[in-house]
Amino acid sequence: MMTGRPRASLHTLGCRLNQAETALLADRLQQDGYQIVDYGRPTDLLVLNTCSVTDEAERMCRYEIRRTLRHSPQAFVAVTGCYAQTGVEALQQVPGIDLIVGNRHKMSLPAHVPSPSALRKRPAPSLLHTKTLDRDDFVLDGAGDCDSKRANLKIQDGCNFMCSFCLIPFARGHERSRRIDDTIREAEALVARGHRELVLTGVNIGRYTQGGSSLLDLIQRLEHIAGLERIRISSIEPTTVPDDLLEYMAASTKLCRHLHLPLQSGDDGILRAMNRRYTVRDYAVFVEQAMRTVPGLGLGTDVLVGFPGEGDAQFANTLTAATDLPFSYLHVFSYSKRPGTAAVRMADAVPPATVKARSRTLAELSRARRMAFYQRYVGSTVDVLFETKDDAGRWTGLTGNYMRVGVTSGNDLANSLRRVAIEGIMDGLAVGEVLP
Ligand code: SF4
Repeated sequence: MMTGRPRASLHTLGCRLNQAETALLADRLQQDGYQIVDYGRPTDLLVLNTCSVTDEAERMCRYEIRRTLRHSPQAFVAVTGCYAQTGVEALQQVPGIDLIVGNRHKMSLPAHVPSPSALRKRPAPSLLHTKTLDRDDFVLDGAGDCDSKRANLKIQDGCNFMCSFCLIPFARGHERSRRIDDTIREAEALVARGHRELVLTGVNIGRYTQGGSSLLDLIQRLEHIAGLERIRISSIEPTTVPDDLLEYMAASTKLCRHLHLPLQSGDDGILRAMNRRYTVRDYAVFVEQAMRTVPGLGLGTDVLVGFPGEGDAQFANTLTAATDLPFSYLHVFSYSKRPGTAAVRMADAVPPATVKARSRTLAELSRARRMAFYQRYVGSTVDVLFETKDDAGRWTGLTGNYMRVGVTSGNDLANSLRRVAIEGIMDGLAVGEVLP
């Protein structure tokens, strides 16, 4: 017999957009009378917001469901997100799932779980997912993440680009942008809740357009919110960053000097096969302009290793580009076949051991680049928005250009923006002292 308020636990796999949506679902469940408990604790309702970008994400999804049912065998399990959209047949075979909600209905999920008073274990899954993607029906609903001092602000969803390796256009539908007034309202609410940095989140945010307003127009509106100290652009497609955004970034006191521009490959043949919309030279020309326009820019990228046809020569081109371009870090992903994408039919698969070795090489390069980037700031002062303490008891936070800084301090620095003198590098952090 259940006593007290029923508990709901939520867990996110995958991207910032999923994190933002999970936070909103948690808010709604709380309003409905659920008590939100940390993921991993016994619960009456589990909401798993899934990803299907890689094989690993699917494996993790299955693992998390089994893990929860071990400590909470009576829990009502609702699975949503991209895997619930694209892998519904597979999910139907996973024991213990009560509800599968594709992305299309994600934000209505709270309406489909049992009300707190009626919560009980259901014997069989009920299925909301539809395999027919009526893309125009995709619901665009905002969501702010409230578990750290940075909050994700969802401004856009979906993608029309159809890169040949990517399942996201199938999982999240066509591109559409959130209404400006709605976005501003949520941003103001997040700032009122204490967030000082907002990360603009979506699938292809450079394509933001709403009633004639562009991404830059939205940023300019957001800048006026009192109490908001920083606006950060999350990953943005290389071909979608307008020049005036770079100029604005250089002049703005709020827009972070940070771009994460997915390169994916440094080989033109592979980029073509990936259906990317630029050549390596186009990318390099843009980066050169960005670095020139925005002093101190932190530049990150994604690289996808092991795409079909990536021989030694193609990988060498990627390594050359990754070495020559001024990246401060790289996120390295291994290619995995996603059913339904164009790349599935491509020949010349790369052996897993080769993919692993290439990923290691790039991960090593990323570590070196990050440390070289941090090294440049030793002896300088930077502004850091502190978040939390790390395992070593240091307060850590980020600079606008995405350098992670750690300091030892007896004061509570959470959510405070401080000037820090950088003295050195330790444990992968730039370390220093908070200035009075
Ligand atoms: S731009 Fe390409 S990789 Fe990015 S979401 Fe769209 S299809 Fe996927």
